[in-house]
Amino acid sequence: MIDNLTKYGFEVNYQPGIQRDQLLKMVADYDVLVFRGRMRVDKELIDLGSNLKILARYGVGLDNVDVDYAISKGIAVVNVPTASTVSVAELTMALILSLFRNLYYVIHSVKTGLWPKGEFVGRELNGKKLGIIGFGRIGGRVAYYGRAFGMKILAYDVRNVSRELRDVEGVQVDLTELLSECDVITLHVPLTPSTYRMLNDKTLSFIREGSFLTNVNRGEVIDTAALIKHLDRLGGVALDVLEEEPPRSELMAKLVEHPKVIVTPHIGSETVEAMDRLADELIHNILEVIRWL
Ligand code: NAD
Repeated sequence: MIDNLTKYGFEVNYQPGIQRDQLLKMVADYDVLVFRGRMRVDKELIDLGSNLKILARYGVGLDNVDVDYAISKGIAVVNVPTASTVSVAELTMALILSLFRNLYYVIHSVKTGLWPKGEFVGRELNGKKLGIIGFGRIGGRVAYYGRAFGMKILAYDVRNVSRELRDVEGVQVDLTELLSECDVITLHVPLTPSTYRMLNDKTLSFIREGSFLTNVNRGEVIDTAALIKHLDRLGGVALDVLEEEPPRSELMAKLVEHPKVIVTPHIGSETVEAMDRLADELIHNILEVIRWL
């Protein structure tokens, strides 16, 4: 991506590990700010970026950006909505399969010299109910993969998605029905005030005993303390995202170290293909905006 930006004539200052206070001091020198989900692009940063013309999010989620404020200041905001859809959906299926077949434990056991045949009897996906919360690009793709495994698809979304569900013979249901009916529940909503901790003590209590849960979405969509409280009832939980990344607090340690929980370090978009697409499409979007400046 850096080489390509340079090829297009940009003078690039690449600082992947930059801290917020450093960025605040230097942001005024730049026309374009390219960032990932870690950096909070709020009023303070935008006000200090007196020359900023484009905020370019290397990824999908804009929950770390004050988009309305940027636009009110005449700054364009671009992201890359589709580049990582397949990778995130594939990771979701990998995590669901890992939960159903106890893959973390069996692989780890063999690596430590054991041969635990018969100790970790798994489950088939075929015939199970897959509940998808947020039936957009990623949720839709997960439905398609789930259907290929013979799963029955239930979806909850604020939009009417019944037409989109037709291809996978899925049904649109309300949140309570989805949580209480499904064998595995997967989250694919954007992080907004309405989705913040949408899985909390009350909603988690609707999930049936022994059901599985995955979150490759945003950590803040689940109330961590409430999830820990419900873990003993659940079949297993797989998370690519946490409320605190990396996990450092005692609360997070309780979650991450729990035997029913497997965690990957926010790698949803981290495939060669998604990263190539992210870079190409983000540069394309930046150049499109520049054409109109
Ligand atoms: P999308 O916009 O295509 O789909 C989101 C869906 O959620 C939409 O259909 C929308 O109507 C629905 N929705 C919004 N608010 C809702 C609510 N309150 N209740 C129910 N449904 C609601 O987005 P997408 O491309 O599928 O991406 C979804 C999210 O995945 C992103 O916002 C991002 O947070 C996350 N993501 C994670 C990674 C990762 O590395 N783990 C990578 C990419 C994206």
